[in-house]
Order: sequence, then structure tokens, then C-alpha cells
Amino acid sequence: MPPKKENASSPDYPQLGRLLVQASGNKGACKPSPGLYLIATPIGHLGDITLRALAILAQADVIACEDTRNSGVLLNAFGIKKPTFSYHDHNEDARRAEVLQRLARGEVVALISDAGMPAIADPGFKLVRDCRDAGFNVTVVPGANAAVTAMAGSGLPTDQFHFAGFLPPKSAARKKDLLAFKPSAATLVFYEAPQRLAASLADMAEILGKDRPAAVARELTKFYEEMRRGTLGELAAHYASHEAKGEIVILIGKEAKEETSITDIDALLTERLRHLTVRDAVAEVAEMTGIPKKEIYARALALSSPPEE
Ligand code: SAM
Repeated sequence: MPPKKENASSPDYPQLGRLLVQASGNKGACKPSPGLYLIATPIGHLGDITLRALAILAQADVIACEDTRNSGVLLNAFGIKKPTFSYHDHNEDARRAEVLQRLARGEVVALISDAGMPAIADPGFKLVRDCRDAGFNVTVVPGANAAVTAMAGSGLPTDQFHFAGFLPPKSAARKKDLLAFKPSAATLVFYEAPQRLAASLADMAEILGKDRPAAVARELTKFYEEMRRGTLGELAAHYASHEAKGEIVILIGKEAKEETSITDIDALLTERLRHLTVRDAVAEVAEMTGIPKKEIYARALALSSPPEE
């Protein structure tokens, strides 16, 4: 899939990257200190590789890849010629020992995944844990990540978020997990496969509520990048009749609480002030509405002061 282009004359990022890789390979270029380097790679757009990522990959002794063929395409695009080996969910126990031996010999070992940040919904966390336990240097070279990219562009609150990775593929287990997220005030972030999107959204609407604001971020940084926003019910209905393609992040905002208007507060207060003290009336209305006592008290004062001439 071609990357998204900002305009017709976007720079040739691989070409620029190859220049940096060449310079990093020059005699006299400073080699990174020995240790494990977790290096973020693009989630689509090749221009999202960082300068630091290229410099370290160009100087690593070996690059551990989630899939050597996938990473081969990336490394090739930037002219990086380094030995690689696979490090994935099915061989990571055996490969961890090998990485630790290499680090003990003073090597620079880079870890990359198929896309984005290694160890985030990708292999890597056990390797980091063991390297740290063994006292080796671990360096994270930050960069693209699908969850954070989706959240930043979703228009949903970003003050708190809960990254929940992939939900179970079967509906019963998925609904059970979703129930636990229901009370959360954070924006919920899920990774999902396109063939499961419609079913997952239907379960989300049923369990979390069809009126919750949500977004489906698809093919981020790529040619067909899309951010579809709506309520969970609207998104579930859309994808029930439209096939989703590509890579997907689902984001769900917190339940929209109905705002209590000043007129509502005044009515509640007036009713209570007939038989309660100001203090008790304020306490009761604050409790009912969740609005701070200070604000309710100000309304009580306004109600009890005579109207201006
Ligand atoms: N380590 C990666 C990261 O930092 O985002 C995530 C790896 S996880 C195995 C792959 C999932 O990430 C995909 O199934 C999709 O849910 C999400 N993803 C990756 N690239 C994406 C993109 N360009 N647009 C939307 N979602 C993406």
C-alpha cells in the first residue's frame, strides 16, 4: 500500500534515509554502547522512521525481527545490510537466551517488530525484563505507535486512556472482558482485525452502551487512512453493512453524562429550600448532581438575594 502523501512533492524519505545510513556506516561514526535497543518502525509511512532509529539499525551487530521477511523490506528500503534473525511469539524463549549471550559479548542488538513499537502488542516484554534483570543496557528508541496515533487524531479525550490491546476473538469471552471496562472514565483503545470489526463493535455497543462516542481509525499513515467517528451504535450499524479492510484501532470515549442546567439546579434548590436549611439543601443538590458544593452554594445565594431594581 503506498504511503499517505502530504502533497505531490513530498520528499523521497527512503532516499533521505539511505544518506543517513551511509553516513552512519562511515569510519569514525560513533558506535552505540553495547546493549539491547528497542526500535520503533513505521506503522505504514516510511517517512515515520526516526533518524536515531536509522543510525542505530545501521550500526547494530544484529537485528532481531518479528518477521525477517517483513523487516527485510524495510531494511532494504533504507539500504541497511545487517545480519537478522527472527524473534517472535513462537521462538522467543529460545531466542532470549541467544540475545543474552550476545549482550554478554558486548554486542549491539536491535529489536524491531513488523510495525510500530516493539513490546506493545508485539514480542519484546520478556526480553526487556530478562535484560534488565541481568543488568544489560536497554534503550528504547521511540517512534510510531498505532494506539497513540489513533488516539491523538480521534477527537476523544486524551487525559486518561486505557490501552486494552486485542479483545478475545469469541463473542462470549469478548463481552466478559468488555463488562470490566464499562465503569472506566478513560478513553478505551483496542486493536482489532478487520474481519472481526463488525462483531466487536456490536458487542461493544451492547455492553458499553450504543450512545458512547467512538472512532474507528483505519490504515493510519497510509494511502487509505480513515478516521470514522460516531456513537458506538452508529459505527456498529455502519460496519454491519460495510466490509472493513486494513489495520484498525477502535477508540471509545466515556459515557456522556447529561449536563444539569442552571434552571434544573435552581428548581432542585428552590424545592429543598422550602423545608431544609441552605447548608442541607446545597449538600443534597451537590450529591444528586455531582456538581461541587461551592457552585451550588453560589446558586443558593443568587436565589435568596432580592432581584436588582
Ligand atoms: N507494535 C504495534 C504498535 O506499536 O502499534 C502494534 C502491533 S499489533 C500486532 C498490530 C495491530 O496494530 C493491528 O492489528 C492494528 O490493530 C494496529 N495497527 C498497526 N498499524 C496500524 C495502522 N497503520 N493503522 C491502524 N491500526 C494499526
